[in-house]
Amino acid sequence: MRVAMPHMGNIYIPFKSLFHRLKVDFVMPPVSNQRTLSLGARYSPEGLCIPFKLTLGNLIEAAESGANTLLMPGGNGICRLGYYTRVQEQILHELGYDVEIIQLGVSERKFVGLLEIIKRVSGDAPWLKILSAFRFGLAKLNALDTMERLVQKVRPVELIKGTANQLYTKAIHAIDKADDYASLKKAKKDYISQLNQVTRDSQAKPLIVGITGEFYVLLEPFCSFDVERELGKLGVEVRRTIFTSEWTKFSLFLNPLGINEKNRIHKAALPYLKRDIGGDGWESIGEKVLHAKEYDGMVHLAPFTCMPEIIAQNIMPSTREKIPVLTILCDEQIAKPGILTRLEAFVDLLERKRRAQNNNRARVTA
Ligand code: SF4
Repeated sequence: MRVAMPHMGNIYIPFKSLFHRLKVDFVMPPVSNQRTLSLGARYSPEGLCIPFKLTLGNLIEAAESGANTLLMPGGNGICRLGYYTRVQEQILHELGYDVEIIQLGVSERKFVGLLEIIKRVSGDAPWLKILSAFRFGLAKLNALDTMERLVQKVRPVELIKGTANQLYTKAIHAIDKADDYASLKKAKKDYISQLNQVTRDSQAKPLIVGITGEFYVLLEPFCSFDVERELGKLGVEVRRTIFTSEWTKFSLFLNPLGINEKNRIHKAALPYLKRDIGGDGWESIGEKVLHAKEYDGMVHLAPFTCMPEIIAQNIMPSTREKIPVLTILCDEQIAKPGILTRLEAFVDLLERKRRAQNNNRARVTA
């Protein structure tokens, strides 16, 4: 059995470590790139969203590399994500690949369901070994997200542009290579310290921009030409609303105990939308309402043709909580220069808004 799964940010690192410890033959498709997207778009039914196309491209590239058992996240929610696995499997069979796709229905089957799948693909490894490998994978996931949170804060204020990104790349590599808790702890400590020592502009007061939207496009930087890095270059501190480690903690462990991290967000969205509309549309509205006072602006990442995010995009301008929102529709037609121009214009608008607010405050106190 040669196992593979599609990319979504750094998630391949914990899975690679998990399967390595269980001695599963894990195949890594190339990191998402233009070829991946072109392949996915060519073989996808028209009108499907970029998560479908890009993951299909990943699965094709994995099958080209010899993988025959493909793990694909899925679910029974309201949006079409629930149909992805079967449709993608059919497409791969029509292309002549003899593969099986196993759906990772994490949201429905929770921790036990996920462990059962791992047991199956690991050829019935002992439970203790599975739990230990899973725990180490989680430790890596937490370390990765810690680094990401830190680099989001350093990028906008570093004096030598690009320093934080270079350290971040090295940190990710070190976390990937760590093969025990001691080396993982050391990698994390070393790079936290190095990132904290990056020379910063002490006068800088970066704009704060929240990043919200559909789960996959938020976590797979290739979909949005890595807006977070680009905003960092423009001197903006980003606050992303979703991290995989947080999502895993709630989805696998806390949601089954009745603790729902989204209750607060749904409550905030209630005056404008009374029910779940699938995907992350309800949450996108709630995040805007919740953080309107805290952020200078928000970037809303939405896959083109994604109905939940289209609904959210249309409701957002009418909320009482006013804050500029830039919606970026992600698909294979978007081009980097267009995104950069829009980001620059958005940041310019936020800077002018902040200057005007500061002037008003100064006038009131004078
Ligand atoms: S939420 Fe939107 S983008 Fe995500 S799978 Fe559903 S329809 Fe596609």
